[in-house]
Amino acid sequence: MSTFILRSGVLILSFGIASEIVYQIYKRVNKRNKINRRKFPKTEVLFFPDEIVACKAYFTDDYGCKNPNCRFSHEENSLSKLFTYLMSARTSIEICVFVITCSDLAELLIKSHKKGVVVRVVTDNEQVDVPGSQIWKLRKAGNPLSITQHFY
Ligand SMILES: [Zn+2]
Repeated sequence: MSTFILRSGVLILSFGIASEIVYQIYKRVNKRNKINRRKFPKTEVLFFPDEIVACKAYFTDDYGCKNPNCRFSHEENSLSKLFTYLMSARTSIEICVFVITCSDLAELLIKSHKKGVVVRVVTDNEQVDVPGSQIWKLRKAGNPLSITQHFY
């Protein structure tokens, strides 16, 4: 009888050790996969314009939108995804656009710049001073935000 109990104990102990080994291997593989996922940026195509403009505050402010009568969208759409992706940048943002007229985007770039994210914008030199261009806001924000103008 005592041999049976001893064998059962050894079997249970072996099972416990084996399951712990499998769990540790799973944790290491899962951790490595998470690191690899972070190294490679997500690729996604966003189409514009959205039917309703996204609420910048709702998607980017720490406390969300405080306006009870907000007329902007709190549903996820292309612009809200762009807001979210820009705000998730930790080291750098590089944007190549013909012209920036969206003041919300310009404000987010400036906000990222103030957080220490290096922001570089490549834009067309003839579009810098067109009505509605937000490049002047970005220039005003100063270094290290830089604007590289495209020359033909
Ligand atoms: Zn809102």
